[in-house]
Amino acid sequence: MKQSKLIIIGSGPAGHTAALYAARANLVPIVLEGIQPGGQLTTTTEVENFPGFEHGITGPALMENMRKQALRFGTTYLSKTVTRVDFKKKPFQIFDNDGQQYLTETVILATGASALYLGLPHEKELIGKGVSACATCDGFFYKNRIVYVVGGGDTAMEEATFLTKFASKVYLVHRRDQFRASKPMQDRVKQNPKIECLMNCTVSELKYDSNGLNGIVITHLITGDSKVHQTDGLFLAIGHTPNTHFLQGQLSLDEKGFIKTINGSPETEIPGVFAAGDVQDSYYRQAITAAGSGCQAAIRAERYLSELDIH
Ligand code: NDP
Repeated sequence: MKQSKLIIIGSGPAGHTAALYAARANLVPIVLEGIQPGGQLTTTTEVENFPGFEHGITGPALMENMRKQALRFGTTYLSKTVTRVDFKKKPFQIFDNDGQQYLTETVILATGASALYLGLPHEKELIGKGVSACATCDGFFYKNRIVYVVGGGDTAMEEATFLTKFASKVYLVHRRDQFRASKPMQDRVKQNPKIECLMNCTVSELKYDSNGLNGIVITHLITGDSKVHQTDGLFLAIGHTPNTHFLQGQLSLDEKGFIKTINGSPETEIPGVFAAGDVQDSYYRQAITAAGSGCQAAIRAERYLSELDIH
């Protein structure tokens, strides 16, 4: 059994930043890194919008730098995945995949969210090589190219519109004849001459060579017709799922499983349990906003412990 003042679950930008602030405040945090250390950023290539890196930095390098910075101040990183928690009594209990038990006064939940993918063969191997779930991250690489966006929600509208800043043409592929996005977002798409909507359609196959994606097959769901479209950019905007399965029954989640926080702060309904990053944010989902909320969570955890006179 391990005992700690603060355990941080998750090791993306929110978890690393929380660890850095907590370690510098002498909380001697333990980070349980999870199944994908570094989180979603480790699946991207170049990150050009994280301030402080004039020429950009790769996602894995950014995460490694953050990790080393938190290590320097005394963070303990454990390569463990949390399977179960018990927040019903203090100290809180956390259990990992090896059955190890941890007792802690405070917890920062920073387990992130995972983009949903279509489930097509070779899709995951092509992430970063033509397949992306983040136009803000990767759109810039598609100057004057033809790209495809899949989805019919607000994110798909926003990503398609954003991509028209770079791409010569954006096709928006949606599986039904109506979008679920809000009307103003739909109107913006419909009024944009660079966007063409392919309704009742789905991407049914990915074509690729050693350089990455080079085409997709689009199937019309009513006629059954399939056609190959040449492209090296496929953006998926079909939703995200927060990594909160291990929290079921322990604290309030919204209808999509995101952690409910109090008035936009990192506080949850349980005093001493904080949440940071994409696990509580279905809207911004940026590395910098996740890092910012990790900082906030660590400051709140430190103040909470001081109020309990735990130093
Ligand atoms: P949503 O869940 O709202 O939309 C997902 C879309 O993807 C739906 O159109 C759905 O189709 C489609 N989809 C899901 N699975 C598949 C699949 N396997 N194959 C093909 N299509 C699929 O997610 P969003 O990320 O768009 O939005 C999440 C939340 O964030 C929403 O509440 C949204 O309003 C909000 N948001 C708000 C913004 C703003 O106001 N500026 C910007 C971005 C997001 P179908 O419709 O058929 O179910």
